[in-house]
This record gives sequence, structure tokens and C-alpha cells, in this order.
Amino acid sequence: MTPNASTSSTGPARHAARCLCGAVSLDATGPSLWMAHCHCGLCRRAHGAGYVTWVGFPATACTIHDPTDALRWFASSPGAERGFCSRCGSPMLFRSARWPGELHLARALLTTPADREPQAHVFWDAHVDWARPDPQDGLPRKADTASG
Ligand SMILES: [Zn+2]
Ligand SMILES: [Zn+2]
Repeated sequence: MTPNASTSSTGPARHAARCLCGAVSLDATGPSLWMAHCHCGLCRRAHGAGYVTWVGFPATACTIHDPTDALRWFASSPGAERGFCSRCGSPMLFRSARWPGELHLARALLTTPADREPQAHVFWDAHVDWARPDPQDGLPRKADTASG
């Protein structure tokens, strides 16, 4: 629960990310919107991980570089799609009608520092016991993402 005294430095935020093989990359200009650990079962399965840390950007701030047309979108639930690199298989992106205008990027793909730290655990009601985050991390555990 110790608040971090050093807040992120202000300035022209620019984020860059890429998949494992580099065929697909992304640039985002301006600040991110939020960052959160998602414990939903869809993320867990899609990423093969206990939970997935996402960072949200305005879709208009993002530029996707995909010169070999490797990016594919899988409709994982009604109104929602997950973007992945068809060359190396990296799960990369999420977009949904539930969060219009946002593009969610797997935080692990960033090659630049992030402008914020994770702020919450979401879909905590779906978390698994074998991948518990630090109980002392001080972050709220939200059953859903109702507060946006
Ligand atoms: Zn790739
Ligand atoms: Zn999820």
C-alpha cells in the first residue's frame, strides 16, 4: 500500500510495441488511458497465461505497422476481437464494442517504458488460484470493469 512517490514524468508520451517476430509493430502517441491486469478466462486462454496485463490507448492514437499483412483478428466473443501475429503467434491486441474507440495492447509487448503502472485487477471473479498476484500490491480487485 505504499504509494510510489515518484509519479511518471510528463512529456510527449510515445509508446512502441511489437510481436515476437517483429512482423507487426505498433506506435501510440500521447498518453495511455489506463493499465490493468485482466483475469478473465478468455484472456487466460488466448495468451496461455494466468492473467494478462493490458494497456488501453485511444484507437486514433495508434498506428499499426504490418507490411507483410501478418496481423489477424479473431472474434473471441460477440463484438470483441483479438489481434495476433499470424507469423509468430503473439497475442497482441483487443478491441470491443464495449469499449468503443479504444485499442487494448498487451503491455508485455511494449519496447518503450510505459507512462503508468497497472491500476487494478479486473474480472477478479474469474481469477485462478495458480496465478495469484502479490496480495500486497495494493491494487483494487474488481469483479468486472464497471467503473471503466
Ligand atoms: Zn510476429
Ligand atoms: Zn480479459
